[in-house]
Amino acid sequence: MAITGSCHCGNVSWELDEAPEWATECNCSLCRRIGAVWAHVDIETVTLNAAHDATFPYIQGAETFALHICRTCGNATHWEPLDAGTDEDAVMAVNLRMADPFVLQALDIRHLDGAETGHYLD
Ligand SMILES: [Zn+2]
Repeated sequence: MAITGSCHCGNVSWELDEAPEWATECNCSLCRRIGAVWAHVDIETVTLNAAHDATFPYIQGAETFALHICRTCGNATHWEPLDAGTDEDAVMAVNLRMADPFVLQALDIRHLDGAETGHYLD
């Protein structure tokens, strides 16, 4: 079943072909602040509906990915690698907090130790 999410103002939305196997909460310095719950997915399975200038990218730390934030309502909607290039296995993530609550209620939430080890704690 496809699932969709959108920011509060509706300028940015995404659609996944199917629900992820689990959702991820991460304790890194960025994720813990914004309270996101992520679905990590192959880029090619995501449909993004947003004008190019609808978001601003926040690039931090190792500068390998950009967190995208809606310019209008400030919601953090997704992150993408800065240079996916031709990598067929490139992964991005969408913030499941943008979806209807029942989407998250149906998923197991796993805890990623992004602050220290980069591994799942469960
Ligand atoms: Zn918005």
